[in-house]
Amino acid sequence: MQIEFKKVPNSGIHFETSLDEVKFCGEVVKTDKMLVKCSGVMEGTLLHTCDRCGESFTLAVKESVEVFASEGLYEDKEGEELLNVIEFFDGFIEVDTLLQSEIEAFKSDYHYCGQCEQLQGE
Ligand SMILES: [Zn+2]
Repeated sequence: MQIEFKKVPNSGIHFETSLDEVKFCGEVVKTDKMLVKCSGVMEGTLLHTCDRCGESFTLAVKESVEVFASEGLYEDKEGEELLNVIEFFDGFIEVDTLLQSEIEAFKSDYHYCGQCEQLQGE
């Protein structure tokens, strides 16, 4: 799904997309001349390899997401908090790219299968 930067109003518009078994929906809002905030929830399931025993299992995902899309190059301004920004150079926000990057970030955390989680609790 693509959203044109020019068409994102200050009041925000709804978006919805999905990648494999993960759905991502929420709102895009213009927060600055070149910056659009996408906030929403990604929810669904991912196939993941347990970080403890190496078994594949289905990982449930339900995460709130806040990510910014920049029209062109984004430079951190000094003194401002570091934002989670993805740059786009052709005037369009690729919502799927945002989702893909959030999924990668989510997967980079440690996740254990049901069995290992039980072991951990003991
Ligand atoms: Zn495991």
